Amino acid sequence: MMKFVRTHLAWKVFLSYLLVVLVGGVVLITAASLSVPAAFERHMASMNAIMTNGNTVGNNQQMQTELFSQYTAAVYEAVTYAVVAALIAAILASFFISRQVVTPMLRMMSLSHRIAEGEYEERLALPGGQQADQIDELGQLALSFNQMADKLEKTETMRRELIGDVTHELRTPLTAVKGYLEGLIDGVLPADPETYQQIHSEIDRLQRLVNDLQELSRVEAGAFQLLLTPVSPSSLIERIQSTLGRQFEDKNIQLEISVESDLPDILVDKDRILQVLTNLVGNALQYTPSGGKVTLLVRRERSDVLFSVKDSGIGITAEQLAFIFNRFYRTDKSRTRASGGSGIGLTIAKALVQAHQGKIWAESNGEGKGSTFSFLIPISR
Ligand code: ADP
Repeated sequence: MMKFVRTHLAWKVFLSYLLVVLVGGVVLITAASLSVPAAFERHMASMNAIMTNGNTVGNNQQMQTELFSQYTAAVYEAVTYAVVAALIAAILASFFISRQVVTPMLRMMSLSHRIAEGEYEERLALPGGQQADQIDELGQLALSFNQMADKLEKTETMRRELIGDVTHELRTPLTAVKGYLEGLIDGVLPADPETYQQIHSEIDRLQRLVNDLQELSRVEAGAFQLLLTPVSPSSLIERIQSTLGRQFEDKNIQLEISVESDLPDILVDKDRILQVLTNLVGNALQYTPSGGKVTLLVRRERSDVLFSVKDSGIGITAEQLAFIFNRFYRTDKSRTRASGGSGIGLTIAKALVQAHQGKIWAESNGEGKGSTFSFLIPISR
């Protein structure tokens, strides 16, 4: 997060008012000093006449009143000119200052309309040539606005990609089912249990895909509640052993378990962490050939508990590792499609671990050299 030395807008507004008053004041004084001599000169002539008349007539009282009214007329005239000039100057100064505030607002308004119409590319510049480390609230607003536009653009891209991915994923099993049915209608395929079994397995895959998608959308949107309770890591491993142990035996894969003693409890949603572990251990089982070995390791790592699933299976290349947590990503499309994987499991696992403020990653020495999937869960949060 950027650190700002913020110049407060309120302070700037105060200064601009002060500036307007100053400009008005300066213009008032200047205009007064310019108009006073002229006004006095003009009224002086009348005053001279009065004074001469007054001496003749000898009426002192009347002469004083006349003199005073001429004097006030001169002052009013001078002040009126000065005030009009100061007013014009103050209005001009206010206009330029308010433009500084209103222009970025107007730009923001027109950009927000464009975003609402689906044009996400444009961004706001910092108002008034402000530097990123010295911005006021208007600059902050422009930055927040840009962040919002970034987020909207990303969401829109994700939405488009998701629709593309889902369409692609649905098309394959649908085409297969349609193909089987056409074969049956044309009499090319025999109407025997094997054909129906094929159709059934394609529909089964569709159903799993839809369920996975539902889960993915819920997890990615953060629309799930974590029921946090203190859980002992070894109890999680026992559960995994009891649910998946049998499958390891059936496939003749050795399941080795190594849990450090005296591990502290972790504050987690037990079912969600079990879901992650089941996915990782299930994958290890799936991608390890018979006769292989899977090691499930749990140990303390500073302020976290590390869960690690290491297998001696088919491995993952360095290029594939970069994408392994992306949704629908499969290292070998045809193979995993045949085995039923939708490539969503790891995406869900990552979202669940992150929801626990944890971290998940994968390592492998390459094809045929096994893989290790690990995740960290903080002990105290
Ligand atoms: P899937 O349902 O396809 O297994 P995942 O998201 O769980 O979906 O996994 C994505 C892909 O990552 C898999 O299709 C597979 O290609 C690869 N993968 C996952 N775990 C392993 C593993 N232990 N060894 C090798 N490849 C793996």
